[in-house]
Amino acid sequence: MAKALMIGAGGVASVVAHKCCQNYEVFEEICIASRTISKCDALKEKLEGGKTKVTTAQVDADKVEELVALIEQVKPDIVINVALPYQDLTIMDACLATKVDYLDTANYEPLDTAKFEYKWQWAYKERFEKAGITAILGCGFDPGVSQVFCAYAQKHYFDEIHTIDILDANAGDHGYPFATNFNPEINIREITANGSYFENGKFIETEPISIKRTYNFPEIGNKDMYLLHHEEMESLALNIPGVKRIRFFMTFSERYLTHLRVLENVGMTSIEPIEYEGHKIIPLQFLKAVLPDPASLGPRTKGKTNIGCIFSGLKDGKEQHYYVYNVCDHEECYREVGSQAISYTTGVPAMIGAAMVLSGKWKKPGVFNVEEFDPDPFMEELNKFGLPWKESFNPELVE
Ligand code: NDP
Repeated sequence: MAKALMIGAGGVASVVAHKCCQNYEVFEEICIASRTISKCDALKEKLEGGKTKVTTAQVDADKVEELVALIEQVKPDIVINVALPYQDLTIMDACLATKVDYLDTANYEPLDTAKFEYKWQWAYKERFEKAGITAILGCGFDPGVSQVFCAYAQKHYFDEIHTIDILDANAGDHGYPFATNFNPEINIREITANGSYFENGKFIETEPISIKRTYNFPEIGNKDMYLLHHEEMESLALNIPGVKRIRFFMTFSERYLTHLRVLENVGMTSIEPIEYEGHKIIPLQFLKAVLPDPASLGPRTKGKTNIGCIFSGLKDGKEQHYYVYNVCDHEECYREVGSQAISYTTGVPAMIGAAMVLSGKWKKPGVFNVEEFDPDPFMEELNKFGLPWKESFNPELVE
């Protein structure tokens, strides 16, 4: 029985909290702490009546000393960071100071650049080793389950993995002309950045949204998808021995891309501050304020997501292909926990990752990406907690 401190009270946090309460045999208590305490209290109210004790607290996670004071007061066994990527380092610093395990779902980003690199967090490796505590980076769906799938393919089906294609399809429709499924600032920064893929030992940069493929996704059908840079490729390139190529594709509708192009062309997606009526404002942050709150999309979104990985390589000297994926239904997620599938597919793995650390299965001193652990117990828990996976040994391959 353990106690978790969760930082953040947004879309993903709500799913993590619901799932910790479902997994009450592991999570005896959860403290929900965020910048706006009313959001923590509203979430607590929804969770009341279960076996897991729920408490709330206010914290500014940009301030290490506030975090340290909170951790000392709550005395958690793990800190689950589902605030924004900007808070990763301050929360890791606080975990180091108090010797508490750490888990997040997205890599650190400085406010003024959108780089999607692990270097800042990997730099904590030695300090976490010395402190005898575990940090698990990027334990949502992608990053997260995408890498568990890689470790699973490597362990069970391949002697050598040559290529990995990570495919992320969202066929959900929320009825708005334009909205993002998770934090708009983070989402738009990711999509408007240059694309990249890994090939023969190095990363190759591409213009944003310039490489397009069409794929016939199981249970969803034909969708256009675009090559993006995505953070898990950086760690997979190091941790999957001999891999020759890694690509990441995400689906976008023509309508979404048209809106995005216009917003970009008029300067609304910029992260450079501008002067407006005597104030400095960041256009992308202003855009976030006028777009629908991703948390409000839950009741309106219909359709399914399909996220998975296609592998090609060798097994016993023969060519082998393998596709493992999860299909998640937005409306079913909403019925179960009051959130759409994007928050759901991120929050469930975060809870499972925390449970892996608490049970000792994924506990060792240092800073790790999820493919560095045994995938089998995690894969079992995915089936148990709402993200069952399917596999195919004869998948359509991506050109
Ligand atoms: P939201 O914007 O819905 O929630 C973010 C939460 O963090 C809010 O409650 C916000 O508080 C809180 N927060 C922000 N800054 C601070 C601060 N300084 N101190 C304390 N709390 C703070 O985001 P999501 O729930 O959609 O996303 C959460 C994380 O999950 C992000 O890092 C995102 O990148 C990641 N993610 C990962 C995915 C994956 O598959 N790996 C997929 C989708 C998301 P307030 O309410 O006051 O603003």
